[in-house]
Amino acid sequence: MADYLPFHVPDIDDDDIDAVVGVLRSGWLTTGSKARQFEQEFAAKVGARYAVALNSCTAALHLALEAIGLSEGDEVIVPTMTFAASAEVVTYFKAKPVLVDCVPTTLNIDPDLVERAVTPRTKAVIPVHFAGQPCDMTRILEIARRHGLRVIEDAAHAFPASYKGRAIGSIGDCTCFSFYATKNITTGEGGMVTTDDPEWADRIRRMSLHGLSRDAWKRYTNQGSWYYEIVAPGFKYNLTDMAAALGLSQLHKAERFWKTRERYAALYAEGFRDLPEIAPLATRDEVQHAWHLYAIQLDPDRLRITREEFIERLQHKQIGCSVHFIPLHLHPYYRRTGGYRPEDFPVASRAFTGMVSLPLYSKMAESDVHRTIAAVRELVLEVRR
Ligand SMILES: *Cc1c(COP(=O)(O)O)cnc(C)c1O
Repeated sequence: MADYLPFHVPDIDDDDIDAVVGVLRSGWLTTGSKARQFEQEFAAKVGARYAVALNSCTAALHLALEAIGLSEGDEVIVPTMTFAASAEVVTYFKAKPVLVDCVPTTLNIDPDLVERAVTPRTKAVIPVHFAGQPCDMTRILEIARRHGLRVIEDAAHAFPASYKGRAIGSIGDCTCFSFYATKNITTGEGGMVTTDDPEWADRIRRMSLHGLSRDAWKRYTNQGSWYYEIVAPGFKYNLTDMAAALGLSQLHKAERFWKTRERYAALYAEGFRDLPEIAPLATRDEVQHAWHLYAIQLDPDRLRITREEFIERLQHKQIGCSVHFIPLHLHPYYRRTGGYRPEDFPVASRAFTGMVSLPLYSKMAESDVHRTIAAVRELVLEVRR
């Protein structure tokens, strides 16, 4: 019997390990020259003027909202089809995340619903590039401009991606990336904010290190001094040089990782094309999709089993799967505080019942993709109506 194919395995090679060991041997473990180099190379890669490395995308979203001056009572528009982090950061300010539904074909935030959710209290919108496919940024930017909103992109899935030829990271006011263990490039835990605004970049950097005056991180080097000032009560969100060295070596391979993902996604699309029981998400022409996830939607009317059973039976066929995401409006906290009902978000509620994410990562072999396709096809034939 074939080995179990995990849903995800990070793509770590000897060069990544050597990069981290090099930092361990250097005597400088925390934020330093590797973090600076990672920021500079990442900013250049996405075409942003500034990049600030942080210890998570959640921290990046938090500090981006802090930099734009979010305050108590403000509202921020967030898609319901996302991970916990995208909305919880809004509550850190005693501000209100206002959830909106998505477009059925891509599961990205619906710009019409963004427009309808705007009130005089709305300060920002957080588009999430679902699965790595950029949102309709032309419309989102246009709505934001008309209503004076800031656009903070949750690009946790979207590296490397682009929209109408512009890299994600160079479009919104601030863009937040994740280097969590399962993301397209990883530092174990880590994140990055990119922006073209020097004041926001400065503020984010300072608040990531206790709100200390500029360059406080140098205070233990020969260029630094023991002196610092606390300019604002900040947080502890800086990225270590061990993580940054891993990020740099991953960044240098990001293009190859992406090409593999894109190729595997095309194999999946081809492999399921003749099955009406399974619908892949649509891919729009004007985007470069980062292919963080390969999500399929099962048609419950054509199958004799539920999504839960479908995943269980794929596990028995040695294929690991997952679900992205349980929409926020279905969780107890958001039901309670937002008064949301499933029928308020018909697209996300319906999509959720049939969604399955299949393994998609550069460390898997092409034969693993074929094995997954074969297992899914076999299962569909067993359980179709
Ligand atoms: C992974 C993820 C995050 C959080 O990233 P961390 O680096 O773990 O904080 C945020 N948003 C989305 C959509 C994610 O998938």
